[in-house]
Amino acid sequence: MNIKNKALLRKESYINGEWVSTKNNKTFGVVNPFDQSNLANVADLDRAAISKAIECAENALPSWKAKSATERSIILKKWYQLQMDNLDDLGTILTLEQGKPLAEAKGEIAYGASYVEWFAEEAKRAYGDVIPGHQADKRIIVLKQPIGVVATITPWNFPNAMITRKVAPALAAGCTVVIKPSEITPLSALALAELADQAGIPPGVLNVVTSNDAIMVGDEFTSNPKIKKISFTGSTRVGKLLMEKSAGTLKKLSLELGGNAPFIVLNDADLEEAVTGAIAAKYRNSGQTCVCANRIFVQEEVYDAFVEKFTVEVKKLNTGNGMDADNQIGPLINEAAVEKVASMVKDAKEKGAELTTGGGHGNQGKNFFDTTVITNIDASMLVMKDEIFGPVAPIVKFKTDDEVIAMANNTEYGLASYFYGNDLKRVWRIAEALEYGMVGINTGLISTPVAPFGGIKESGMGREGSRYGMEDYLEIKYLCFGGI
Ligand code: ADP
Repeated sequence: MNIKNKALLRKESYINGEWVSTKNNKTFGVVNPFDQSNLANVADLDRAAISKAIECAENALPSWKAKSATERSIILKKWYQLQMDNLDDLGTILTLEQGKPLAEAKGEIAYGASYVEWFAEEAKRAYGDVIPGHQADKRIIVLKQPIGVVATITPWNFPNAMITRKVAPALAAGCTVVIKPSEITPLSALALAELADQAGIPPGVLNVVTSNDAIMVGDEFTSNPKIKKISFTGSTRVGKLLMEKSAGTLKKLSLELGGNAPFIVLNDADLEEAVTGAIAAKYRNSGQTCVCANRIFVQEEVYDAFVEKFTVEVKKLNTGNGMDADNQIGPLINEAAVEKVASMVKDAKEKGAELTTGGGHGNQGKNFFDTTVITNIDASMLVMKDEIFGPVAPIVKFKTDDEVIAMANNTEYGLASYFYGNDLKRVWRIAEALEYGMVGINTGLISTPVAPFGGIKESGMGREGSRYGMEDYLEIKYLCFGGI
């Protein structure tokens, strides 16, 4: 692998400040989704090792939470700085194991690091409250304290940022963490652990456990009473499973689950801007994000013009190896992902949808699917109900605001939504009516560490980023003083 800082390439798990392999050297392979070449064989831990990591995190908790917020902040800032210093190498590792174009991968590293910087600052602002007492001799004070040991489970689509978004606020709050990265993309997580070590995060405070057996790790995380909270990003199916399994020990949960984002273009929208926003919201990471525009709704007066302009721009996107700077679209994560996207397009075509571009597999390799635009969509098609997670854009025509609001909300999901329009009153009405945790208005890009990212309905619970993101890792305790 062509990187400058070879120390970032780790194949063992990181537990209690040490690099750990398995007794029998059991490993699992990490492959490049572009050409399926093997990148590394990574330690495949057993359940005893996962349990040990949790124990180490618990042992490290008292001294980590006893540090002043400023002390934790200084260490987190070092970790942030090291991530920025190693941005190119971290980006290369990310592209090789995940497939996204290098420029996007580097963007993710800077974005991921920005959460560490943000929460290094927020550590100092975990304010409590003073409440006027309910009786003359009483005084009430509210404290915020760290929840305890936190387990994180993260997906392959953002192998870096989904981790820092959870770990930075957890550490800032005074929690310790056990991180389980996706088995498809563990290398970015291990590189982060190496930098955490260099930054002086004490042994046991941040642990990364690698395993090819997600169910086993999930079982240990959910049943181990030492874990007080699980923060998960991934599918709604697995999120529900974790919630069910956590009931026995009543763990706190943050769940960032699937989405089915509507992207609405009103008849008074700036069409050029709407096309640019739709491209960004749809095709980033080859369509493999939970906030990707899943259903594009365009008002009838501007429908034809939008479809034409959008298709022209989609055709300009180059697909290929993410390491090649000319490409804006990389491979999908694996063949199963390609098959799922292909079957959704097939279903739509069988039910009467029409292609304005794409629809095939291209000639780049087995993990690729062409950038695709489909029209003549109806509600029975899978593309309207399920998360597409690929470079396919279905465009639907609508007549009235009420109609599009009803269609947009007609899903069990409630993560991101977007719309373009310029009438102030309509903008307010639609923004308030959309049943989503996030609404992008005249923008297709909404993610930032300063805002509360998260969903409602079956898209999950909890928020990441902003001052609200700290709350997910803090408990409330009140002190009632009497006899004053
Ligand atoms: P995706 O479709 O994005 O891969 P998943 O929900 O399958 O979403 O995976 C997200 C993360 O959840 C990954 O780290 C994966 O290993 C993990 N995971 C998958 N199944 C389970 C499970 N039963 N228990 C715990 N973690 C799981």
